[in-house]
Amino acid sequence: MIAIDPQDRLICLRAGEAADDHHGAVLPPISQASLYRKRTMKDLLDGLSREHAANVYSRGTNPTVKVLEDTLAKLERAEACKCFGSGMGAVSAVLFGLLKSGDHVLFVNDIYGPTLELAARLKDFGVSWSQSFAQDIDVISREMRDNTRLVYMESPGSMLFRLLPIVEICAMAKARNALTVIDNTVATPLLQKPLALGADLSLHSCSKYIGGHSDVIGGAVMGSRELIERLFYKSYMLLGSVLAPFDAFLLLRGLMTLPDRMARLHDDALTVAAYLENHPRIGAIYHPTFCKEDNALFEQQLRGHSGLFSVALKDASYSETLAVADRLKLFGRAVSWGGAESLVLCGHKADPAGRATRIPATLLRFSIGLEGADNLIADLEQALA
Ligand SMILES: *Cc1c(COP(=O)(O)O)cnc(C)c1O
Repeated sequence: MIAIDPQDRLICLRAGEAADDHHGAVLPPISQASLYRKRTMKDLLDGLSREHAANVYSRGTNPTVKVLEDTLAKLERAEACKCFGSGMGAVSAVLFGLLKSGDHVLFVNDIYGPTLELAARLKDFGVSWSQSFAQDIDVISREMRDNTRLVYMESPGSMLFRLLPIVEICAMAKARNALTVIDNTVATPLLQKPLALGADLSLHSCSKYIGGHSDVIGGAVMGSRELIERLFYKSYMLLGSVLAPFDAFLLLRGLMTLPDRMARLHDDALTVAAYLENHPRIGAIYHPTFCKEDNALFEQQLRGHSGLFSVALKDASYSETLAVADRLKLFGRAVSWGGAESLVLCGHKADPAGRATRIPATLLRFSIGLEGADNLIADLEQALA
């Protein structure tokens, strides 16, 4: 069992309660308007001069989206939050908003593929990047350059779910005058609080566990009021990755069950992973609980893990790995994760950009859903037979 913070449970449950009463509605109204009239021209001009805090135009702020932003900021213990039309919208806003020509960004750990593709695009704008897979702070520190202005982390990392010493990395970056951001999508705001560990920014794809029902795409960045305002004007408003009010409503609805979904997914994933650990066809399990080297960091940084983990098949070829995935009946073969249905993905692909990757060819990543551990184990048993 994981212990969800009782305060977080209430924040999630009350997510729908807007600041305005709205006739006592238990959910916020969907403010489906692209613009907001003001009483006088002076009021409008005042609004335009502080658009991050005034409803002027829905590419900037929107009342329904604002309810979600306030809720996510509370959950992440952040001063402020800005929501985006997708997780990649959030990543783009961070990279374009904080970096300029001549800067370098250091990515640490296994990173979501499209994030690195975007970093490669940044080369065209004079921003360089490199990636470290080290966990030792001295090694990471040596990979910093004089012009490193941003350290971008994933912990747990994509696909292999390895952890980073977040506190040490953030302190080292601060001493070197670089900002730090953590993609906290895998852990959700319930299981890890990156800002409390020293990060300047935490970002999420809300399309995964926060939405939780495979029906909405969204993103969010949380941090200090000053940094979020900087992103609002320098990148959010200009790049235009806007979260629609209806999607904000769906995300608020998802948040209400997030604590219970995470608790259940955590337990079922552990049960399924424990079954696979002893299966003769499984060579390795990639899950923080099963990774002895990361157990100390796990205790320090996380309240638990989600429903995500990977395995590597033992003595299998790539085509045998695909065949096992194809035999699964309850696990859908699909990208993404975090919904009610279990999914499987072959994580390995030949990388056209020649990026460093350490994902084995026989890796299968599972997103455990809500079908129940017994049903999922029976399905895996027949697929591995
Ligand atoms: C899905 C994902 C993203 C991108 O989010 P989208 O909502 O798909 O744009 C970024 N980071 C991680 C870790 C993700 O899993």
